[in-house]
Amino acid sequence: MKARSLAKRTRRTSPRPVVAKRRAQTSTAGGKYASIRRELQKQRNAILEEVGEGLTKRDGQEAFPDVSDQASAEVDQNFTMRIKEREQKLLKKIDEALDRMKKNTYGICERCEEEIPYQRLKARPVTTLCIACKTLQEQEEKFRR
Ligand SMILES: [Zn+2]
Repeated sequence: MKARSLAKRTRRTSPRPVVAKRRAQTSTAGGKYASIRRELQKQRNAILEEVGEGLTKRDGQEAFPDVSDQASAEVDQNFTMRIKEREQKLLKKIDEALDRMKKNTYGICERCEEEIPYQRLKARPVTTLCIACKTLQEQEEKFRR
């Protein structure tokens, strides 16, 4: 009896390499924002896929030129172009954010050079300004109008 319980105890307290693992994670470049980077890359792929789909759809319309569909096709095209413009802007912002991660300048406010809180980055990964500076910028834009 005694021997068995002792064996159990030693098994339970056997040392695990928790500390070593944790140290390896923090030393990885960009590890702090790893989940945000994954999210950005996912968004990027989704946009690229959508843009690709839009192109194949338009090709299909051109292959079947139907007079009654022409007006609605034009509206569709304008709509797709507007979406594409917005997507391209977002795509550019995502690329810039990924670039900043590579250069280790990600998460630093462009104006005051303070670290942007993680919660804000999580909610708006492409932002380059902290909340205080963003508010200031918006106020300035209002005055300019
Ligand atoms: Zn700032």
